[in-house]
Amino acid sequence: MDSTTNLPVAVIGAGPVGLAAAAHLLERGLEPLVFEAGPTAGAAIEQWRHIRLFSPWRFNVDAAAVRLLEASGWESPRPTALPYGGELVDSYLTPLAALPAISSRLLTGSRVVAVTRNGLDKTHLRDRDTTPFLVRVEHQGGEVRDYPAAAVIDASGTWSARNPLGTSGLPALGEAALASSISSPLPDVLDRDRASFAGRRVLVIGAGHSAANTLISLADLAKAEPGTRILWAVRGASAEKAYGGGNADGLPARGQLGARLRRLVEAGSIELHTGFGVASLTGHDGGTSPAAVGGPAVTLTAVDGRTLEADVVVPCTGFRPDLGILRELRLNLDPAVEAPLELGPLIDPEFHSCGTVAPHGASLLAHPDKDFYIVGMKSYGRAPTFLLATGYEQVRSVVAALAGDHEAANTVQLELPETGVCSTDAGTSCDVPATATAAATTEAADSGCCGTPEPVLVGFPTGLAHGRSGSN
Ligand SMILES: Cc1cc2nc3c(=O)[nH]c(=O)nc-3n(C[C@H](O)[C@H](O)[C@H](O)COP(=O)(O)OP(=O)(O)OC[C@H]3O[C@@H](n4cnc5c(N)ncnc54)[C@H](O)[C@@H]3O)c2cc1C
Repeated sequence: MDSTTNLPVAVIGAGPVGLAAAAHLLERGLEPLVFEAGPTAGAAIEQWRHIRLFSPWRFNVDAAAVRLLEASGWESPRPTALPYGGELVDSYLTPLAALPAISSRLLTGSRVVAVTRNGLDKTHLRDRDTTPFLVRVEHQGGEVRDYPAAAVIDASGTWSARNPLGTSGLPALGEAALASSISSPLPDVLDRDRASFAGRRVLVIGAGHSAANTLISLADLAKAEPGTRILWAVRGASAEKAYGGGNADGLPARGQLGARLRRLVEAGSIELHTGFGVASLTGHDGGTSPAAVGGPAVTLTAVDGRTLEADVVVPCTGFRPDLGILRELRLNLDPAVEAPLELGPLIDPEFHSCGTVAPHGASLLAHPDKDFYIVGMKSYGRAPTFLLATGYEQVRSVVAALAGDHEAANTVQLELPETGVCSTDAGTSCDVPATATAAATTEAADSGCCGTPEPVLVGFPTGLAHGRSGSN
């Protein structure tokens, strides 16, 4: 980073990874300026606050953030407990964002709409590396302002861009027009959004953990609200991957989720339709009365011509990064996964299942536009296996690089959990639990998942052959 400027480092997003980046920047004596589109820090997690995380507290907090918090008298939650999304917000992100060091540098209600180099469009090369960034921000109320920045860390996640219901990466025909009949990806069917689901025909589409969570909650709802009918459509020939790895899952909570779902399907509480790739949606009258998800009843037609009728559709089809705001930057992205180029092959859901990945940091995450980094959930592009622990290590390394401490940036560190460490056999998925053999490694030596020497991967084995958990 050009040390002659006194400009701040812009951080996009005040989720767990964006706030961790801010904490690391402060520790390094750099000046963060955090833009958060939502009304509060953790705005994306707020949408799924009713969902329990499958990784315990000790993997969900960042070391620099904890140091800041502890200096203010914060008490850490029990490290082995599994928090709900709401607890992650209330007990960690909210107090962190409220610390004067952070709150004075955090602008909420501020959506970044574009990032570029000041005075240079993408085609201009001259002095590009030393030209400050310009971050365009739309504030609540509509005012748009440009902020100069010495570097930019994009930690804006993927929550706001769900994958479409259609099978070809495009919305199914009629999907956009019937948006009012489609809920958010993880509705709180038992509480906040109950009225939209009670006594209605609900169709859940997708085979990942979001689908499993929603289906299990709907089964609980159906017990209390007779007349609630639960349909589940998956594109694959079976629902096996949604049932997960069971006992082979390194995170027991995740394994149990799948096992419970399987029992509900086998008991007939959930009507499963396999091989159902959605081709189109048509709306019609005659559904039950509209509630918060207030569109008409819909008929979904599959590519093979089968049809399903529903009052509400829950899209559990995964997420993709919003790259539109980065259009004026020079990026190097994996053509399939839309993750930074070298990271893509390490997490491609076609081959990897479990969030296991060689530890990586600034050098793997770098782009042709110097001092710009995508971190956190968004760094995984379309791969669904991101874990917070990985993101915290990313920002530690990225901030070290921005501070000019290249040794610390390149020494990517692992805090190895006793269980939940994956290794890999050459060329296959990274699912095989292994004993930890190293606590730290250099990025250059370990940038390949399946290279030699065998890398130590941090993550949690799912017991599945691949990681397409967000897809339908
Ligand atoms: C249901 C669910 C359960 C999960 N469970 C686990 C788990 O158990 N363990 C684990 O390690 N990981 C888990 N994850 C994965 C991942 O750790 C979380 O998604 C986590 O929230 C990612 O953090 P983040 O900071 O990268 O992104 P986010 O938490 O999504 O934060 C991004 C922030 O950026 C803001 N933003 C977006 N666009 C803009 C913009 N243009 N301008 C300004 N601000 C913007 C958003 O409002 C948001 O506050 C889970 C994910 C989901 C969805």
